[in-house]
Amino acid sequence: PSLETFMLYVQWGDHMEQESLLGNSSHDLRQMPGHLHRNIKDVQIIGFCSAKSIVELTCHMLENAKSLGCLTLSTCFKGENSCSDGEYDICLPMSRDMIMEAHKALLVVERYILGKVPSTVELKVIEPCSRCNALEI
Ligand SMILES: [Zn+2]
Repeated sequence: PSLETFMLYVQWGDHMEQESLLGNSSHDLRQMPGHLHRNIKDVQIIGFCSAKSIVELTCHMLENAKSLGCLTLSTCFKGENSCSDGEYDICLPMSRDMIMEAHKALLVVERYILGKVPSTVELKVIEPCSRCNALEI
């Protein structure tokens, strides 16, 4: 059987303890050994965050999954905003910490991921809903 879609759910809580890439002075990312399935076409990371290991994993996929066509990074818990798909009136509420982390994750995407996305890969970044989970300063 060929694995074509890879979904990774990042457990919130686990990575909160991990080193965030932001504020880390050495920006060299580890190269991960091993290889991904050749047929992988679609990668979705739900709960994408600024933790170094998650960013490394993402870069690894971009560099090694030659068949990759679509990469989705969701900084919320789900693939889509629920209030915008019409099924619910309001999105799942996120705590202030989670929203802060999501914004850090977006920064990391800009700094470390965007430059590595080949033209053949469609990158989709899902941000917290600006209506339901806006960051209040
Ligand atoms: Zn919403």
